[in-house]
Amino acid sequence: TVASETIGFKAETRKLLDIVTNSLYAEREVFARELVSNASDALERARHDALARGEDPGRLEIRITTDDADGKTLAIEDDGRGMTREELVENLGTIAKSGSKAFLEGLDGTNEEAAANIIGKFGVGFYASFMVSDKVEVISSAGARGDGKAWKWSSMGDGTFTIEEATESDGAPARGTKILMHIKKDQKHLVSKWGMETVLKKYSSFVGFPILLNGNRMNDVGALWLKDEKDLTDEESIAFYRLMSGASDMPPFRMSFKADAPMTIRSLLYFPAENPERLAGIGGQSSSGVSLYARRVLIQQNTERLLPPFLRFVRGVIDCEDIPLNISRESLQDSMLVLRLGQIMAKRVLKFLDEKAKKEPEKYNKWFANLGFFLKEGVCSEYAYKQELAELLRYESSATEAGKLTSLRDYANRMPESQQNVYYIVAPSRQQAESSPYLEAAKSRGYEVLFLYAHIDEFVMQHLMKVAGKDLISVEAANLEVDEKSEDAEEALDESASADLCKWFGDDALGGKLKEVKMSTRLASSPAILSGHEPEAMRRYRMVQTMASD
Ligand code: ADP
Ligand code: MG
Repeated sequence: TVASETIGFKAETRKLLDIVTNSLYAEREVFARELVSNASDALERARHDALARGEDPGRLEIRITTDDADGKTLAIEDDGRGMTREELVENLGTIAKSGSKAFLEGLDGTNEEAAANIIGKFGVGFYASFMVSDKVEVISSAGARGDGKAWKWSSMGDGTFTIEEATESDGAPARGTKILMHIKKDQKHLVSKWGMETVLKKYSSFVGFPILLNGNRMNDVGALWLKDEKDLTDEESIAFYRLMSGASDMPPFRMSFKADAPMTIRSLLYFPAENPERLAGIGGQSSSGVSLYARRVLIQQNTERLLPPFLRFVRGVIDCEDIPLNISRESLQDSMLVLRLGQIMAKRVLKFLDEKAKKEPEKYNKWFANLGFFLKEGVCSEYAYKQELAELLRYESSATEAGKLTSLRDYANRMPESQQNVYYIVAPSRQQAESSPYLEAAKSRGYEVLFLYAHIDEFVMQHLMKVAGKDLISVEAANLEVDEKSEDAEEALDESASADLCKWFGDDALGGKLKEVKMSTRLASSPAILSGHEPEAMRRYRMVQTMASD
């Protein structure tokens, strides 16, 4: 046998453990959610691996044992894929989990409230066990994948952990993992049978494997996405969303979509209220939030290239019977089936949002204010969905009240007959849009102007180009249509009377910086504007392009 070895945690892990064990007092119960979700992940993988080899996955359970007599220990055991010695060292000695990383990055000083908030949102994974334990032992056997031995990882949550061969009395499962927690004196109440019942109901009632608490079945295993929409309770649905996404918001919309042709699909998708990238740093793009299943077997969590990247904010499960179980991760990426499935689902998602936008406009607009960015990104990046996405965009305009939004279609329907184009103005705020001289010409003709507050909006307009057959035109651009009357008026302008003023502007005041200075009837109350120049965002874009090609 290999002698026991004591290894130091990586610096980052040590820092995390230190915070978890010493300063987090709120929401300690989330340790159960974290450990059960790890057990469930390991079971999913064991089931998948066995089925892909055409083998029977055997018993797949999570067994939780409390010690009500003196509340000193709590054991959580699973029949999952287990861990080899190397995996124990690697997986439990370093922080790979994005949640834990986000947790560390999101900490500001010693602000406990913020920490508790983040832990609720992301969790800290396995290390949460140290919130309630003085010592944690992980006894694991990797079954056929391993060396035939069971290994024991143990730590007091201080700077080091020890790894050694497990003994008979450690009671390792044949394949799987047992987490034995030695409970802190003041946390006994949490780990009593009653305490665990409460916590498990709250966090884990729909886990896809049986959970036995002291031998009694706790949950009825049901893949929520197979249920009919009408049989879904809000409570279980929200709990499912939260466990799956690690988020803590209330998703305003959920979509339960089922089809039998052209593919057999069962899906349950959620639209978060909060932008999941809000906490990510600059350039921090989150990964896909959708997991791919085939007949209730997990194929891959957070499947990239299933839905198009701009739909990465969508959370949930897509289960498709047509996907073969033994599909490899590599072939997933260029599988025609997965591509086709992704296209069907993307169209469905956009159709669903369109229905919501029409049926519950207030709720939709509120959602759009937070998440609309992703749809705008879609307009700019994904040609295939442009038309559907155009229907989903919402903007303030000169005809809406502050804070109220209009669709492009509604704008087009309001257009007077004389109006040829859809107009927009780019401005950082409503106030600035309203006081812009560029607005005047359109307004004086009774034309509505869309207010675009975000940089991306101008690119959105340039990618869309047309809506309802009308060109999208910036009021800053020179080709603002001029009606007959004002053309006459322009001709009637006495050029000679203003020649001096024009000359002074062009030659003296702005010496040589202007191509041409002329009189116009375009403005009503502002004395002058620049025209014929490139709009702001385009100028910046051109600059970036020039820099990139240099
Ligand atoms: P995450 O679950 O996000 O990866 P955790 O800190 O919860 O992060 O767990 C770290 C890693 O430890 C997991 O990715 C997994 O590889 C391993 N692990 C944890 N618990 C188990 C378990 N019960 N069975 C098998 N592997 C596990
Ligand atoms: Mg985990």
